[in-house]
Amino acid sequence: MIDALIVGAGPSGSYLGHLLAEKGFSVKILEEHREVGKPVECTGLVSERVFKMARSRSMVNTVSGANVFFPNGKSIHIAKGEKTIVMDRDRFDKDVAAMAIGSGSDFSVHAKAINVRTSTDESLVTYREDGEKKEISARVVIGADGINSVVRRDLFSSRPGRVISCYQVDSAAELEDQDSVNVYVGSDSSSGFFGWATPSGKITRIGVGSYHSPAYKYFLRINKKFGKDKILGINGGSIPVKYLKRTYTDRALLVGDAAGIVKPLSGGGIYTGMVSSTHAASAIESAFDAEDFSARKLSSYQKEWKRELGRELWFDGVVHKIFGGISDRKFNALYDVLSKPESIDIINGSGDIDYPSKVVVSLFLKRPGLVSRMLLMR
Ligand SMILES: Cc1cc2nc3c(=O)[nH]c(=O)nc-3n(C[C@H](O)[C@H](O)[C@H](O)COP(=O)(O)OP(=O)(O)OC[C@H]3O[C@@H](n4cnc5c(N)ncnc54)[C@H](O)[C@@H]3O)c2cc1C
Repeated sequence: MIDALIVGAGPSGSYLGHLLAEKGFSVKILEEHREVGKPVECTGLVSERVFKMARSRSMVNTVSGANVFFPNGKSIHIAKGEKTIVMDRDRFDKDVAAMAIGSGSDFSVHAKAINVRTSTDESLVTYREDGEKKEISARVVIGADGINSVVRRDLFSSRPGRVISCYQVDSAAELEDQDSVNVYVGSDSSSGFFGWATPSGKITRIGVGSYHSPAYKYFLRINKKFGKDKILGINGGSIPVKYLKRTYTDRALLVGDAAGIVKPLSGGGIYTGMVSSTHAASAIESAFDAEDFSARKLSSYQKEWKRELGRELWFDGVVHKIFGGISDRKFNALYDVLSKPESIDIINGSGDIDYPSKVVVSLFLKRPGLVSRMLLMR
């Protein structure tokens, strides 16, 4: 029996494999696809914090600002001190998987978990590797298998409460401003989320997330600015933006997207997923120390990831709900408020891609009247 079986070799699963193997545990990682990192379903925007956790050479650009386009056709430009990294997500996933293997994890591609169960003594995973059905027993199993997690389906009785569907393309329309992401808000661009164009060198990643209706129709509108004939590839996917009430059970944990540990305002889940893996590694180590793999013992995982991220994710969720429902008229009123130099200064001084609540809190502390008006908008 191995110590830990991780289902899924995205950033959360591979990083957890690396951390556990470094601690000396025997680890196996199963990845259903033939190739780690493919298909890409990501824009690749992350903070430098992510590159402090992962050793990766996947950076293709950096940006330090955003142009936010409102329904009235006007835009505001915000900029911040530190850089946000635009990376090649395929390469990033391969680099993190290589870290896991380098630390001693056993790794199988084209190995899809199809059934997971636990008993008092073990976790048992049935999987299909290169078409052959196999079974493996582990002391603990970790679901790092993304939004449609099999571990979650078989061992947890819940699903992420809110899911954003996305449509994205790689386009040959090169953005002149390589230092800013374009963000599009309002009913022409999305329903309950936003559209984007991210400069990635010669290529631009153009996409839309949508909560209430298919993202494709909004994408068509945004892409008019860039041209249909420039599309190099289509990708997309769904983002769970509400974490599960419970992310642990007897002999099992869920990390990253499988648990819905994603920032609701931006849909970014790489940083939060890797942070959840850090806490999963600590909880698993302390379960081995105590020889206790009960849900009670593993609950420290949830306590710790929530201590680091819970308040931010909860707050972002509330703001996302409020702004997800506002009308174009209110968005334009928001533009009037946010385009003032005093507001821009506050946003520039406190913007943080991983902790967006800092902006709202700073605006509230420095201009309480403004935030009350924003929150009352519906
Ligand atoms: C269009 C789009 C743009 C995005 N842009 C960004 C961004 O710019 N920045 C950011 O931080 N986040 C972004 N995200 C979110 C981000 O991609 C996810 O939050 C992140 O990938 C979560 O990592 P993970 O390891 O938890 O899950 P995943 O990356 O989903 O990895 C899960 C892995 O498990 C494998 N798997 C699934 N089922 C099985 C099975 N049964 N057996 C074996 N293997 C299995 C999958 O093949 C996959 O490799 C974006 C998402 C979308 C859809």
